[in-house]
Amino acid sequence: MIDMKDVWKTYPNGMKAINGIDISIGKGEFVYVVGPSGAGKSTFIKMMYREEKPTKGKIHINGTDLTTLKEKQIPYLRRQIGVVFQDFKLLHQLTVFENVAFALEVIEESPAVIKKRVMAVLDIVKLKNKARFLPGELSGGEQQRVAIARAIVNNPAVLIADEPTGNLDPDTSWEIMDTLEEINNRGTTVLMATHNKEIVNTIRRRVIAIEDGRVVRDEVRGNYGYEI
Ligand code: ADP
Repeated sequence: MIDMKDVWKTYPNGMKAINGIDISIGKGEFVYVVGPSGAGKSTFIKMMYREEKPTKGKIHINGTDLTTLKEKQIPYLRRQIGVVFQDFKLLHQLTVFENVAFALEVIEESPAVIKKRVMAVLDIVKLKNKARFLPGELSGGEQQRVAIARAIVNNPAVLIADEPTGNLDPDTSWEIMDTLEEINNRGTTVLMATHNKEIVNTIRRRVIAIEDGRVVRDEVRGNYGYEI
């Protein structure tokens, strides 16, 4: 599903963010990416949806070679990979329904089909009753669930979440975990960068720890392993 072979990333300013990573993640896995700030977690994740390109090495996702991918093929890749951010990144002038529908890049689909698909994902994140609301009328946790619905509306093989609970209180963070687990149970591979020690130590899944741009730990049912 996701394969990285001898991947290195040096930013144009000379910062060596990733220093030789080999990793393989299978279909349907749930993986936490942990490590101190500045360790390279975001860079590791950004390379998977081609926000950043490795300086050296190979990355395959679902058979697609990201390192040779042409710019015009990136939209196709983005349909296979949903992404969720710490700060939600919703469009505030659009309703919940419109935010999710906007991501559905199927021009040829009829409004009826789009409506069905959008309502189906809003049902998964338990927000069907708020489809007509604006993001500003929702709680932080609800806004993050809209962002998750948007990320999965194209039915991607992989859902990537970069600190999805970073801006949320503990109770709301657990709700987000319920949603991510539900999506994982439906067969989507989930990759989540996090600093949330309690979540990682409670919902035990594979843990990949990154320090100084290298994988220093990779455990099947790992723990967080850091004090904060
Ligand atoms: P983390 O997500 O673990 O905090 P990052 O991947 O964001 O780590 O950063 C890894 C290193 O690369 C840090 O030293 C950071 O300052 C640097 N870095 C991140 N993005 C850029 C960039 N666009 N240009 C230059 N350096 C960067």
